[in-house]
Amino acid sequence: MEDTTFDYIIVGGGVAGCVLASRLSASLPENSILLIEAGPENADDRVALSMGVFLSDTDDIQWNHDSIPQKGLDGNVVSKTQGKVLGGSSAINYQAWTRGSASEFDRWAEEVGDKRWSWNEMLPYFKRSETFVPGKDMSQEKSEAHGYSGPIKVTHVSSSGRNRNYPLKAMIADIHETAGQKRNDDMNSGDTLGYSEFANATLNGQRQWAALCPRGKNVTLWSSTQAIKLLFAGTQAVGVDVLHDGSAGTATAGKEVIVSSGAQNTSKLLLLSGIGPKAELQKHQIRQLADLPVGDNFSDHPYMATFWKVRERGLSLGDMEMVTPDCDWTAGSGCDFFAFHRHEEEHLKKLTKETLGAKEVERFELAGRPHTESFVMHGHIDFTGLVEAPEGSSFSFLNILVAPESRGSIRLASSSPTDPPLVDPALFTNPVDSQLMYECARMNITAIKASSAVSKYGAVEYGIAEADRDDLSDEALRRRLVKTCATVFHGSGTCAMGTVVDTECRVLGFRGLRVIDASIFPFPIGAHY
Ligand SMILES: Cc1cc2nc3c(=O)[nH]c(=O)nc-3n(C[C@H](O)[C@H](O)[C@H](O)COP(=O)(O)OP(=O)(O)OC[C@H]3O[C@@H](n4cnc5c(N)ncnc54)[C@H](O)[C@@H]3O)c2cc1C
Repeated sequence: MEDTTFDYIIVGGGVAGCVLASRLSASLPENSILLIEAGPENADDRVALSMGVFLSDTDDIQWNHDSIPQKGLDGNVVSKTQGKVLGGSSAINYQAWTRGSASEFDRWAEEVGDKRWSWNEMLPYFKRSETFVPGKDMSQEKSEAHGYSGPIKVTHVSSSGRNRNYPLKAMIADIHETAGQKRNDDMNSGDTLGYSEFANATLNGQRQWAALCPRGKNVTLWSSTQAIKLLFAGTQAVGVDVLHDGSAGTATAGKEVIVSSGAQNTSKLLLLSGIGPKAELQKHQIRQLADLPVGDNFSDHPYMATFWKVRERGLSLGDMEMVTPDCDWTAGSGCDFFAFHRHEEEHLKKLTKETLGAKEVERFELAGRPHTESFVMHGHIDFTGLVEAPEGSSFSFLNILVAPESRGSIRLASSSPTDPPLVDPALFTNPVDSQLMYECARMNITAIKASSAVSKYGAVEYGIAEADRDDLSDEALRRRLVKTCATVFHGSGTCAMGTVVDTECRVLGFRGLRVIDASIFPFPIGAHY
């Protein structure tokens, strides 16, 4: 590969990188921009079709990282994969489209001392990204909360262009109502609490992903090219060393290098380049350029599933035709609603005060901030592979922790850029997280049992010991947790704003170097990202 010079180099063509390449090329048409992506440019129908990745082998377009053994899960390992293709993880994800609550962004802005990160200041950017097609239950009037001309078409299940009349929809709504959730017509308006129709980045069975953001002619794409080291002249970032088909090369940046390789690989690249904790760099004989907490503060949203078999046949994925006039399972995730919850139990408040710092307690108590989320997938969806699918129809109930207090890290396995990093989300190492998860699961299992799931459909929990079925003690819930826990792949925080980057995403102590992906979140947000 020839050495080449550009004004801007963007490292990582995922959500952040594709959006930035699109916007930068439009606003700076005279500047040259290089977008470097480790994966291929095109990944055919596996990506383009909404459910393509779930129906085919996609290992070649994923990083396939696993966590290190998780102490909080008795040593189990969880998948920490990310997309490795233009569009990044948005090319392989579940297409849920959520923003988080206004109070979380306002808190973010307050913590970093810059109101540009507040909900009101972020809203124009959320709107600019989408073309929103409201669900049938929503007002069809244009809303101030939504955009109608962005590159990503966002629909609700009922407005996604295909018939997705999942047979158990009314039953799921009944479970959420029985759990005391209020109906929230628009969860993306800043108020996430309650249950709402599932918003998806899909239309007519076609995935809507970041690679669809238009790029100007001034963008050069180097696909299947991995950045292996950032280059500096003093504290000025001046380029990137890369590997392409086993050959080494260099790209030079006249103005800036902008890293958007995802919450795991961005840290890895910075560490390989000498930006990070001293002890970590010394371990791998890497010369330190700056002592910043790169790779610290890693968090993810873990879930715990419960599985339920229903009496009748022909009601869920795998137990009926994939495409019927009424229901097209290929058109999007088999899921009708998501619900976000707060937990106000006194024992939780007491525990937070006993175990968390003052800042963390304030975040926990932030009005409007969800602590947990739940949603139901119509069918047997088990990402751990430890629960056997039953005969007949079933549903899987995911309880998700969206305000985790546990923090892990990204570290290097070696100084070789081709080795995967050591990924440690440190799940359930903070006692508040376990208690939140148990409260969420307890609420939902109790609601399932009191709802039409049991009275009308005869739902019975499976995948657990018979003796545990009626046992909602912490111990019995923990057995479910250890067996079913994985994450929903929402890693963030490893180059946090305030400690690694400033409020313009500039890496502290350097010129011409920014990090712009999910690494910069100061704390986890109650949303999918
Ligand atoms: C299986 C899965 C399901 C998910 N489900 C949802 C969902 O339903 N809804 C939702 O909102 N979010 C979901 N997410 C999360 C969401 O997709 C990510 O948060 C989002 O894509 C993060 O954007 P990013 O730009 O930080 O990183 P990514 O989108 O992961 O992009 C990083 C890019 O950088 C490239 N890269 C990495 N290292 C290098 C390097 N050294 N050189 C060159 N290129 C490099 C990668 O190949 C990748 O293309 C899911 C994620 C996964 C993995």
